[in-house]
Amino acid sequence: RCFCKLHGEVDDCSCRVETLDSLNNNKIYPRLNSLLARNYFRYFKVNLKKTCPFWSDDSRCALKDCHVNVCKKDDVPFKFIEEYHLDNEKHEKNKYSKDVNVGFEERCAEERELSALDKTISEEKKAEFQNWREYDEALPMFCDIDDEQSNDVEYVDLLLNPERYTGYKGPSPRRIWRSIYEENCFKPEKNYGYGPEYGADLSLESSMCLEKRVFFRLISGLHTSINIHLCDQYLFPANNGFGASKWDHNLKEFQSRFDPELTNGQGPQRLKNLYFTYLIELRALAKAVPYLKEAGFYTGDPTEDSDLQVGVNNLLDIIKSFPDHFDESQLFRGNTKETKQLKAEFVQHFRNITRIMDCVGCDKCKLWGKLQILGMGTALKILFSGDSMRPDSIVKLGNKDFQLTRTEIVALFNAFGRLSSSIHAIETFRKLAR
Ligand code: FAD
Repeated sequence: RCFCKLHGEVDDCSCRVETLDSLNNNKIYPRLNSLLARNYFRYFKVNLKKTCPFWSDDSRCALKDCHVNVCKKDDVPFKFIEEYHLDNEKHEKNKYSKDVNVGFEERCAEERELSALDKTISEEKKAEFQNWREYDEALPMFCDIDDEQSNDVEYVDLLLNPERYTGYKGPSPRRIWRSIYEENCFKPEKNYGYGPEYGADLSLESSMCLEKRVFFRLISGLHTSINIHLCDQYLFPANNGFGASKWDHNLKEFQSRFDPELTNGQGPQRLKNLYFTYLIELRALAKAVPYLKEAGFYTGDPTEDSDLQVGVNNLLDIIKSFPDHFDESQLFRGNTKETKQLKAEFVQHFRNITRIMDCVGCDKCKLWGKLQILGMGTALKILFSGDSMRPDSIVKLGNKDFQLTRTEIVALFNAFGRLSSSIHAIETFRKLAR
């Protein structure tokens, strides 16, 4: 069943899903994919050691430096059992403990392995990073990003650490998503409860104003994208101990997350939210074209730099000539007290989500979560910068007051690359479902 064959306009946009499929799969995805393999984009500077500011670590076994004790049978942390209870209210107490313990050690070992980061960076590359740092530090900064100052910041090779199935599931990611949707996403007005399926009842979204809908859809679209990647590159275990485990597309997992019959009708809407998020980041890139064409993609090798600029310009020309961009001038209209307050809340919620990413209990998921939130934040920064509420302000981004750091540019392109790859993967699942 091709439930993932979506039709019609992306909500709150004048652009059709089919148009985006064609633009992305034929033009953007192949170009972006080859750009993101280049040195400038593949090394991401990130601090994965920040402590979670909201709750104590509950990552059980997934974090690399997690205490091994927590993974032992009969030594499951109380907190984990407690959360398990909360999430499974209908089960009996004994059953939880039993379920949690069975195969726990084995699952932990697998989770640890899958979530661990490959930090291999050649000595030659490390020396090159020093040049990059000097170059970056000479740039005027639009805003201070905490991470850039910290000693815990490291370069990670994104190609060695692809976003894919890690086995990160259960109370820890559920707490992250719940905290994002329930505490940091806008919710419809009174008499509305998200219920146990938090974030699920999208039909009531229409009772919210445009800005709040945009916020919700952005996050939901990101959530969709993350979950598509884990279905697209899924680890199938060895067959009863025979043969090797295998990475492949998992149609069943995809269906369980997006088939309307298995998701209380929410699946297709969640897929559509992915297209919405894609459109927002596409628009941000279009708006930043004058800036990005001038930015210079410094790697220290003049041939590589100019090759890369040619490739980026080619992609930007395609993006710029797309006719159905999201119109951000519809957002935060008027200079009223309410609008200003709404905008401040929007920013505050977004900042909180950035901080929640430090609570993700799986290094690889945290890496990509942080990258994608930073990329999305950079897109919003572009859309809402200066006089940016009007579409004609596109040229104004070329002025000297506006600056993006290398990390923001790398995050923006890679985050957009993730959305692009998800839309491409939907096409794969469509074919597999036929
Ligand atoms: P979840 O995806 O955890 O969703 C929880 C609830 O949210 C669902 O029951 C549903 O009600 C609602 N929901 C689901 N999707 C949407 C949506 N699109 N919009 C609105 N509501 C929705 N796992 C990996 O294997 N690899 C990764 O790289 C990875 N990265 C992650 C990064 C982050 C930041 C987080 C928080 C988690 C990540 N995970 C990753 C875990 C993954 O997202 C799921 O949480 C996990 O697979 C468990 O899925 P689930 O079926 O319990 O539902």
